[in-house]
Amino acid sequence: MIVGAGVAGLTAATALARDGWQVEIAEIGPPEAPAGWGLCLTGPSLRALDELGLADACLAEGYGMSTLTYMDVNGEPRGELQLPRLMGTRRPAMAGIARPVLHRILHAEAERHGVVVRHGVTVVAVDQEGDLVRVRLSDGTVRKVALLVGADGVRSSVRGLLGLETSIDFHGQMVWRALVPRPRWATGIHQFAGKADTAGLVPLSGGQAYVFLTENGVEQSVLPDARLAPRLRQLLEAFPGRVEEIRSLVSMSTSVVRRPVLTAFLAGAWNRGSCVVIGDAAHAPAPQMASGAALAIEDGLVLARELGRHETVGAGLRAFVRRRAQRCRTLVETSVTIARLVQARRHHEAYPLVDSCHRLMAEPA
Ligand SMILES: Cc1cc2nc3c(=O)[nH]c(=O)nc-3n(C[C@H](O)[C@H](O)[C@H](O)COP(=O)(O)OP(=O)(O)OC[C@H]3O[C@@H](n4cnc5c(N)ncnc54)[C@H](O)[C@@H]3O)c2cc1C
Repeated sequence: MIVGAGVAGLTAATALARDGWQVEIAEIGPPEAPAGWGLCLTGPSLRALDELGLADACLAEGYGMSTLTYMDVNGEPRGELQLPRLMGTRRPAMAGIARPVLHRILHAEAERHGVVVRHGVTVVAVDQEGDLVRVRLSDGTVRKVALLVGADGVRSSVRGLLGLETSIDFHGQMVWRALVPRPRWATGIHQFAGKADTAGLVPLSGGQAYVFLTENGVEQSVLPDARLAPRLRQLLEAFPGRVEEIRSLVSMSTSVVRRPVLTAFLAGAWNRGSCVVIGDAAHAPAPQMASGAALAIEDGLVLARELGRHETVGAGLRAFVRRRAQRCRTLVETSVTIARLVQARRHHEAYPLVDSCHRLMAEPA
C-alpha cells in the first residue's frame, strides 16, 4: 500500500509492480492532477524515468533543453550553465513539463502495471502485526499489507502515524508560477537576478512556458485568486529589459499560483518495521535546485531495487535508507544554502554552488 499518488508514489508503484508486487495507492485528492504547475525534470529525473521507460514520453510531451542562462536585472547575460546530459549526448540534459502532463504519464504507466489508485481516501491508523502492517483507511476499510509506503508529501501524515518527526522550515520566500505562451527565444531556462527577487522562464512544450518568481523576505500568506496575476505583474515591474515581454504574457495566463518555500529533512530513520516514507515526506528541498522530483523518482526505483535484493522487507528498507540518506541530505542542505544566498543577493556565490550541486547529483542514485 502506498499513500499519495504524486511523483514519488506513482513511480514507486510502477517500480514495485514491475517486480511483481501487488500495489494499491490511497490518494487523498481527486483524480484531476493540480493544474497550472510546471516542473523542470533535471538529468537525474530523466535518467530515473528512462529506467522506467518513460523519459522519451516526457521529452516528447515536454520541452528538452540543456542550458541555464543567468541574466542580470536588465536582461544582460551574466553566465551560462550547461547541465550534464545523463542520457548520452544525443538526448537533452533536462525537460520542462507541465505537471498534469507528467502526472498523466506516470499514472497511465502505473495502471498499465496493474496498480490500483483509489482517490479521496487516506490512511488513519497503522499497526505492525508480525511481518504485516494493519492499515485502516478513512473509508473504514482495513488492509493487511506486507509494505506501507508514505509518499504523501512534505506535510506527510504517514510520517506522523509512524512517529517519525521532523520540522518543516519556511525560509521567508514565496514562489510564483504562471503558465504563459512560450516566447520563441526561450529555448532553455532563463533566470534574472533582480534587486530583491529572482524571476525567470522555463519552456514546457513548443507552445507553453512558465514564468517563475521568487519573492524574498516575506511572511507566509495566502492571496485571493483574483489578486494573483496583478500582483505578479507588479513584482515583475522591478525587472526592465526582457522581463517586460514576460510581464505582458502574465496577462494572458490562465493559471497563476503562489506557494511558500518549505523544506524538511528526516534526520533519523525513515522506516519503522515494514513502513517507510519517501519523496518530500522524507526530504523536501527548496525549489532553487529544481531537483525535488528527481529525488522522489529515484526513491521509487531504489526502493524496489533494495527490496528485491533483501530477504525481508525490514532489511530492504534499512538498505534503502542507508543508500539514500546522504544524497538527499546534501541536496536539501545545499538548496537551502542557495536559497539564502539568493535572498542575500549573493548570486555570484550561488551560481557556482548550483553548478557543483548538479554535478554531484549526476553521480548514480
Ligand atoms: C514551487 C515549486 C516548484 C518546484 N519545482 C521543481 C522542479 O522544477 N523540479 C523538481 O524536480 N522539483 C521541483 N519541486 C519539488 C517537487 O515538486 C517535489 O519534490 C515533488 O513533487 C515531491 O514528490 P512527492 O510525490 O514526494 O510529493 P507530492 O508531489 O507533494 O505528492 C504527494 C501526494 O500525496 C497526496 N497526499 C497528501 N497527503 C495525503 C494523505 N494524508 N493521504 C493520501 N494522500 C495524500 C497529495 O495529494 C499528492 O498527490 C518544486 C516544488 C515547489 C513547491
